[in-house]
Amino acid sequence: MPWYGYKGRILKVNLTSQRVSVEELRLDYVKLYIGGLGYAARVLWDELRPGVDPLSPDNILIATTGPMTGTLAPGSGNIYWAFKSPQTGAWGETRSGGKFGAWLKYSGFDMVVITGRAQEPVYLYLEGGRAEIRSAKRYWGMTVHEVTDALREDTGARDASVAAIGPGGENLVRFAAIMNDYDRAAGRTGGGAVMGSKNLKAIVAAGGEGIEVYDPEGFLAAALEAQSAIRSDPGNRAMGEHGTIGGLLGLNAMGALPTANFQTGYFEGAYKISHEALERNYMIKRRACHSCIIGCSRYSYVAAGPYATPPNEGPEYETADMNGAMPMIDNMEVVIRVNWLANNYGLDTISLGHTISWAIEAYQKGLITKQDTGGLE
Ligand code: SF4
Repeated sequence: MPWYGYKGRILKVNLTSQRVSVEELRLDYVKLYIGGLGYAARVLWDELRPGVDPLSPDNILIATTGPMTGTLAPGSGNIYWAFKSPQTGAWGETRSGGKFGAWLKYSGFDMVVITGRAQEPVYLYLEGGRAEIRSAKRYWGMTVHEVTDALREDTGARDASVAAIGPGGENLVRFAAIMNDYDRAAGRTGGGAVMGSKNLKAIVAAGGEGIEVYDPEGFLAAALEAQSAIRSDPGNRAMGEHGTIGGLLGLNAMGALPTANFQTGYFEGAYKISHEALERNYMIKRRACHSCIIGCSRYSYVAAGPYATPPNEGPEYETADMNGAMPMIDNMEVVIRVNWLANNYGLDTISLGHTISWAIEAYQKGLITKQDTGGLE
């Protein structure tokens, strides 16, 4: 049967047996859950054994999309991941922008369901409805930017979307992110550690297929209408103009900016880590995810000095707050540098900044000492 919007295929990958297989989407589940996280939650409900260790081969890692993903619908490049979280021991979900969701569909699959653990590092190569498990020994240890460049070069799929882990996921850091398209982070709840526990370094989505919609003319008209509604909304325009970091000063004025490990809601140095500081001194341009007309992402860098970075996406509001106001650092260059390091090591900037801020407060209150911090004051 034709699967308009959907590709109609779930890729199942067992890394222990090194086998891949393709199953058709279940129509009864599509009617119940549509797709995306709803369908993924049902797969976990059906197939995940109760009590499973999140970092064991028995955990299931799912990359999932919906029927709009990869179409002209606004903001349709997103990818969702679902798994049992090593950070909470419960339901884990995390979302990322960029284009990986769209490219997964163009590669022929609505979902990828990954079980088991490879004996040695591997990556998945997807193209035109086919999937291969390939050795990633040479890529293990690389940062996210390094492995993305190397895989695009080595596979010849120079326009591919790559989702990868960095050293954070390889070392099973419980707040490790799955990064895609270099700097887009599916950062929450430890998906990167689950991927690392499976010895899966990356998924290369090379594309090769299109998406058929039921009524192309009607769909195009609806997509244009949605674009127009999004464009006319002042909140969306502000989001594009100043990004998520544009909300930082307003929260501070309301006394609601998490500061000093949540001890207060007001940060004296907020201006120095705000969108105004970013736009004046460090921002190169705005960027947008696949098929998005808002373009809330920032592209920035620090030109020189101890915190110098190459051009890099971000920082988002959460990154600036958690690595600026929370540890009481009123320096945008530090925030940009931390963002760049976290993106490359594949770490969630929210949990990273919060953990450091907690350690600072704990140190100040004598709960931890130099012995715990390895001599760091
Ligand atoms: S650019 Fe911003 S608003 Fe657009 S899809 Fe990406 S995260 Fe969402």
